[in-house]
Amino acid sequence: YHAKNNMKAVSIYDAEYDPNSAKRLTVTGALGRAIREEQLVLFYQPKVDLKTHRVYGFEALIRWIHPELGFIPPSDFVPMVELSSWIYPMTLWVLEQTIKQCAMWRDAGLDLTLAMNLSPRNLADDRIVNDLEVLLKKYNVRGGMLEMEITESMLMSDPNRASRILERINKLGVRLSIDDFGTGYSSLAYLKRLPVKTLKIDGSFIMNMLESEQDEIIVKSTIHLAHNLGLDVVAEGVETLEVYDRLNSLECDSVQGYYIAKPMPIESVGAWLADYQS
Ligand code: C2E
Ligand code: MG
Ligand code: MG
Ligand code: MG
Repeated sequence: YHAKNNMKAVSIYDAEYDPNSAKRLTVTGALGRAIREEQLVLFYQPKVDLKTHRVYGFEALIRWIHPELGFIPPSDFVPMVELSSWIYPMTLWVLEQTIKQCAMWRDAGLDLTLAMNLSPRNLADDRIVNDLEVLLKKYNVRGGMLEMEITESMLMSDPNRASRILERINKLGVRLSIDDFGTGYSSLAYLKRLPVKTLKIDGSFIMNMLESEQDEIIVKSTIHLAHNLGLDVVAEGVETLEVYDRLNSLECDSVQGYYIAKPMPIESVGAWLADYQS
């Protein structure tokens, strides 16, 4: 199946709505080639500390630049990859790129953290945490430069195994955060028993918080409860100055969103940083 997979533009979109179709196999089959032929890239989106207004780190977000189909966002292929065994090589690729980037920032004297996203399946066996340990050593990167984002659903299928793997990640000094918080079913009390340092409140609550009293109440109480449990809070999806200011007054710790910057290719990061900090 490595040979000549001539995907049609529509197949990607159709397949997303029918995850069991043969087309899904086409997409995931093409992923191996995408990795080998360097069609995958990471874009970087900054995170800003609300107390200091400084950029302290970035999140790496995957994109697929397909030779025929062009730019493919993660929502059009990651869900399908997650249903296949290709999720391991894809995550391993992201992990190595991320650690290499940390090493480059360290060599450039930049004090930045870099976050990557894990899939539920990545917590189902030890491979990624084994690779993490090997790659941190290989590139001589401190675990503290790296952050791993997991979603609440990842913890549900096999909580004991997942929490054992999270403990290993934590022992390597890598920070763990809960992504899209508020969209799943886990309680903060449960999360508090895991070695998680940060909650990222889902953008869907943030975007409407000035118009929807309900959303604002959810945001406000999540911040308070998280702080009382000793967790940091990041707000995703901050698109305006008004929301930025409101989160600041609610004592949210940091923000991420189009108001600060959209995810950008690595070539743009240096100039953007210099411009933002001045
Ligand atoms: P996520 O990890 O929750 O990432 C946040 C998504 O929101 C990103 O979409 C980002 O571009 C978008 N976003 C950020 N700020 C704003 C804003 O102010 N307004 C709006 N409307 N959107 C904003 P993206 O890059 O398309 O990624 C979508 C999802 O794909 C990610 O959600 C994550 O779940 C998944 N993903 C991305 N990269 C990877 C990866 O390397 N591995 C895995 N397993 N999943 C990934
Ligand atoms: Mg994320
Ligand atoms: Mg998120
Ligand atoms: Mg999200």
